[in-house]
Amino acid sequence: MQIQLARVYIMTTLAGGESPRADADVLLCHLLGCRRSYLMTWPERELDTAQLDRLQGWLTRRLAGEPIAHLVGEREFWSLPLKVSPATLIPRPDTELLVEQALTKLPHGPCAVLDLGTGTGAIALALKSERPDADVWAVDRMADAAALARDNSASLELPVTVRDGSWFAPLADAPLFAVIVSNPPYIERDDPHLAEGDLRFEPRSALVAQEGGLADIRHIATHAPSYLQPDGWLLLEHGWQQGSVVRQLLQDLGYRAVSTVRDYGDNERVTQA
Ligand code: GLN
Repeated sequence: MQIQLARVYIMTTLAGGESPRADADVLLCHLLGCRRSYLMTWPERELDTAQLDRLQGWLTRRLAGEPIAHLVGEREFWSLPLKVSPATLIPRPDTELLVEQALTKLPHGPCAVLDLGTGTGAIALALKSERPDADVWAVDRMADAAALARDNSASLELPVTVRDGSWFAPLADAPLFAVIVSNPPYIERDDPHLAEGDLRFEPRSALVAQEGGLADIRHIATHAPSYLQPDGWLLLEHGWQQGSVVRQLLQDLGYRAVSTVRDYGDNERVTQA
């Protein structure tokens, strides 16, 4: 089958899904080892039988609900190709907002920044890619996730200190941070979305928090001041309905300059203080 025909075939097969066109391009790029721009040149190559078999295998799994990122083992975040696995959350485009905001808070010159619950390492590595002079630390309590973050750090040649452990526990010897960022679990245990889409295939430990989704945010906000420089910033991603409760929580804990930034879908997504 010719590449363009395969593209149409994938889009048709996945037409019931959320993003058949983007999915087709991701699958073809992985199959061919090419960039997306190559597909736009209308290449007239034929796919061989082995490639077609591989593609059919992916489509079968995709139709059973598996995330595209798991099929190809990769997801782009902040233009970085990150390896992903079922051990971690798949990086979301919305989380790029957290990176953008963190970059505005980082002081000029040498400074340290911490990413809590790093998963694939997405946020930490994006920050390192923009600020090679910064001392970037990343923590995850799931050993598989920390290993994946180290793997991504090595293959992208973006050196980051990755520690295994629960939130601040492995940071006894860390410097004081100018910025602490986190995209922690924040979904309520009974949220019906957990039974939908990609979320079904991602670790509950990366998604769900006690106290109606607020337990981890509360834990981080409570302990962060001991690890921040006096004028440092804490930036937290949270659910679209959690903005006001997170702002209140931070104010009650004595944080100043508390504000929330909206994501591209116009939902309150990142609160900084
Ligand atoms: N934003 C993700 C979602 O709703 C969840 C990420 C998280 O829990 N940290 O799909």
